[in-house]
Amino acid sequence: MPEGDVLRLTAARLDAALRGVPLDRAELRWPTAGAARLVGATVTECVAYGKHLLTRFDDGRTLHTHLRMDGYWRVHPTGTRQAAARHPSVRAVLGTSSWTCVGWHLGMLDLVRTRDEARLVGHLGPDVLADDFPDAGLTEGLRRLAAQGGRPLCEVLLDQRVVAGLGTIWMAETLFALRLWPWTPADRLDADGGRALLLTARRLMGRSVEVGRSRGLGAVEPAVHGRARRPCRRCRTPVAVGRANEAPYDRPVFWCPACQAPR
Ligand SMILES: [Zn+2]
Repeated sequence: MPEGDVLRLTAARLDAALRGVPLDRAELRWPTAGAARLVGATVTECVAYGKHLLTRFDDGRTLHTHLRMDGYWRVHPTGTRQAAARHPSVRAVLGTSSWTCVGWHLGMLDLVRTRDEARLVGHLGPDVLADDFPDAGLTEGLRRLAAQGGRPLCEVLLDQRVVAGLGTIWMAETLFALRLWPWTPADRLDADGGRALLLTARRLMGRSVEVGRSRGLGAVEPAVHGRARRPCRRCRTPVAVGRANEAPYDRPVFWCPACQAPR
């Protein structure tokens, strides 16, 4: 599932392609939005919030999309074969005279008034990649973290209502970086530990965005995620896989049993 770093890069690509030029093509292939008219509207900005994408228009509307498990956006020169976007898995097409953005396999799509965005993302915790996260966001994130009681850290980091943006990759990488057992009860961390947890997630994901900008997605090799039974990069112990959350919402947790032994 795409995480906050991927969403940042996606938002930047869509913003660069669409901002400031009126749309001359707009198709929302979605039951609740198919009749909406967006041709003639101009994108003022496209931003990510956690794993959500908000494309704002100059007429006071926002297109909200979410990639869920395997969605993605592609940008093609208008007029090319790919820009025609006739495939049944395409859920959204936004095109100007120069560029056409095609949303594949999208998991959520809503068209709302920009002032009502909070209805869609207002329940989320602060976005760890937001510019102001080290100030306002961190304070709020720590407050929400402190309310988690004895929940395992791996589950807390996946819960978008605590902080927004992490999925299984950055949850695992953050816990490995800090040598934390993934099932450590959240209330075992003091304020400094909580701060280190959230700022480490931000640092690792921020680096992925930086590297991704120049070298493309997936250029940062995970330390533990997706490396079951392969040697830990730090100590050579085989990486293990456990689970976070109860079925059917359970997710894999990759971790090193030696570096991240329970304390
Ligand atoms: Zn190790």
